[in-house]
Amino acid sequence: MTDFNTKRTWGPTPAYPQVLAYRPKTHLGRPIVIAGPCSIEDADQVEVVARKLAAHGVTFMRGGVFRAGTYPKDNFGLKRALLRTFSNTARRHGLKTIVEVIDVRQLDYIDQYADAFQVGARQGQGYVLLKELAKTKKPVTLKRGAGMKLDEFLGAAEYLARGRCMPILIERGGASFMDHVRWELSTSLIAAVKQITKLPIIVDASHGSGRRDLVQPLTLAGIAAGADGFLVEVHPCPEKSISDTDQAFPLDEYPRLLQRALAVRHAALGLPVIVPSTTYTVTTASMAIPAVKWEAISKKENKAR
Ligand code: PEP
Ligand code: MN
Repeated sequence: MTDFNTKRTWGPTPAYPQVLAYRPKTHLGRPIVIAGPCSIEDADQVEVVARKLAAHGVTFMRGGVFRAGTYPKDNFGLKRALLRTFSNTARRHGLKTIVEVIDVRQLDYIDQYADAFQVGARQGQGYVLLKELAKTKKPVTLKRGAGMKLDEFLGAAEYLARGRCMPILIERGGASFMDHVRWELSTSLIAAVKQITKLPIIVDASHGSGRRDLVQPLTLAGIAAGADGFLVEVHPCPEKSISDTDQAFPLDEYPRLLQRALAVRHAALGLPVIVPSTTYTVTTASMAIPAVKWEAISKKENKAR
């Protein structure tokens, strides 16, 4: 990357000293696990999702409340009461809340209800917002904009890293000529970020594909590439999700995804993964992550894979 930077003959020289110097303090070794619906819809939905996520040791519950859709008619989740419901329910279940901020004027209000903030892909280069968020002491997740290259992504992260917040990068795919997915997830970007900086980066395969059938495999791929965690949009009834319907992952299937994701992370970190001939066993004794129960696979099934 350094060579690449110095070879450039156009534009400003990339400069992200705080990103390069950043050393995470507390969460080391623990995966950052974020799940929840695309949009907060009603009290029942929040209760059902929160209960399930809490039972499986998820850290952050997400949910869009103040949103801006691709088209202005997409006017979802603009109700303050929903933010209170979301926050009260999640916290009652012991979950931390993560809420997207799209406008600095909402920041003080959202601050009361959010344990962490999200900067969406469309706001990823909103430098006024980034500067303001950098002042908080909370985690701030920064999504890569659909048109941002690694360089712009780290430049945006520099705005956060200059402040007091804890920046967390999110790879959520970008524009490409591929038309089998909504956005093309870049696993190489995840691996490249890990080469350059110690900033945590997590994979969002929900937006990074737009397809529920690809959410699990691409989550696993992102973790294998070195992601420090994963964000998944879940819904108790995916077809009824009021936004990002096609990518909503069934809540009931989430525990299995979680189990597999933690196992892949374990392997990606180079921790002992015992593979006897008849079963796969993942040991977690040395890790500060929840115990992973790995399903036993018969010899016959194993062969068929
Ligand atoms: C979201 O997280 O629901 C969202 C809108 O994501 P993105 O900003 O990545 O499109
Ligand atoms: Mn969404």
